[in-house]
Amino acid sequence: MKVMNPATGALIRDVPADGAKAVRAKYEKARAAQPQWARLPIRKRLEAIRHFREQVVVRMEDLARTLTAEVGKPIRQSRNELNGLTARIDFFLAQSAGVLRDETVFKAPDQTLEERISHDPLGVIANISAWNYPYFVGGNVFVPALLAGNAVLYKPSEYATLSGLHMVEMLHAAGVPEDIVVPVVGDGKTGAALLRQPVDGVFFTGSYGTGARIAASAGRRMIKVQLELGGKDPIYVCDDVDVKAAAAAVADGAFYNTGQSCCAVERIYVHEAIHESFVEAFVAEVKSYRLGDPLDESTYIGAITRKAQLGVLKRQVADAVKKGAHLAFCGDAPKRKGNWFAPTVLTDVDHSMLVMKDESFGPIIGIQAVADDDAAVDQMNDTEYGLTAGVYTRDEKRAKRILARIASGTVYWNCCDRVSPRLPWSGVKHSGIGLTLSTYGIQAFTRPKAWHLKA
Ligand code: NAD
Repeated sequence: MKVMNPATGALIRDVPADGAKAVRAKYEKARAAQPQWARLPIRKRLEAIRHFREQVVVRMEDLARTLTAEVGKPIRQSRNELNGLTARIDFFLAQSAGVLRDETVFKAPDQTLEERISHDPLGVIANISAWNYPYFVGGNVFVPALLAGNAVLYKPSEYATLSGLHMVEMLHAAGVPEDIVVPVVGDGKTGAALLRQPVDGVFFTGSYGTGARIAASAGRRMIKVQLELGGKDPIYVCDDVDVKAAAAAVADGAFYNTGQSCCAVERIYVHEAIHESFVEAFVAEVKSYRLGDPLDESTYIGAITRKAQLGVLKRQVADAVKKGAHLAFCGDAPKRKGNWFAPTVLTDVDHSMLVMKDESFGPIIGIQAVADDDAAVDQMNDTEYGLTAGVYTRDEKRAKRILARIASGTVYWNCCDRVSPRLPWSGVKHSGIGLTLSTYGIQAFTRPKAWHLKA
């Protein structure tokens, strides 16, 4: 499999991909090794993850450079991702022992009956991952899964293979046995081969299309399936905000990571009373973003990771303009090899346009004027997705009233494009099923077993 640099078009490395036989052999080794890993006292597993964290810190610059090279992520944002990973690991290190401890939930006064819950691991799980935040979406799964005593067959995205392999190397060096966290290398075909193994759980992060196929194929097997999928995340900017500050914050939410975030702001609704001044401030902000070499410290917008996405973005802009949208800003993309797309801001948009309905996953955004809060809520909910949604207003009560009416896994008041290890990360509708992060995201890798103990 060829690992390419999306900012230069150059080959980084050729990596051997796993065929069906290799995947089967890896599965069998993981299956044989898992019971012993689960029997270890939790402090041993915590120790290994603590060592893994130490390695991430020691190797941070080298890891950030690999991530930037294979994904095209601006180098400062690669470092941010790695720092974010360490914060997530800290959360899991602090919380896992408590969450995984057996609980007595009832004891009869005469001691003749006890009811207990143990949190048993699922067994061998498949972790199939996306490329846009490989350290986050990989770590959200394999860190708590390993702590809970599972073996993990981890398939990084074919667009973030080297980062995935680095993570596995560090886990092995940290003391997680080679058959307990096992890299499975390849594209969708390898992913499909992995899912043909009798695993005990599937934890997938990626697009709705792939997620729906995986759900259908796993449905008859009665195993745990978690799908963290795409979004079309809206922001509503009310008429009482500091326009410049709100425009800067929302633009960052839309363009950070070159717009290639599952929770990137994908649609903006602005109260008509401030629409004009908001668009002006927003465009001024986007104009200030440096686009170019992802290794340059001043770059804010990097390369588009997958070449095929360029066509999606072009089609969305052309469709919007054809249907009457105004091109409020279109920046300059570098005229050299690599996958580049100029940051683009569209106004006079509506929901007949692809840019307001389909996930863009790139540096383009539509801004639509709305008459009032009710109209904003209607537009925000008019989507197949439901990952995140946010409101900017000075009025907390107004924000909470609006957010309570939005069908979405996460809601934000005066912030956006934000993930916290302390809160559950989940989507509704086509944004997925199940969750990661928070203490629920540790339980997700266990099977609570009920013990009725009669003396
Ligand atoms: P994708 O669906 O193309 O690929 C995801 C993974 O699935 C890759 O590892 C790929 O090799 C594998 N795959 C492809 N076909 C498969 C098959 N038939 N069987 C098994 N595995 C298969 O998605 P992507 O381009 O890697 O990621 C982008 C998408 O992920 C966006 O929609 C984004 O919003 C979403 N995403 C969601 C979250 C979240 O937390 N909800 C986080 C990051 C990304």
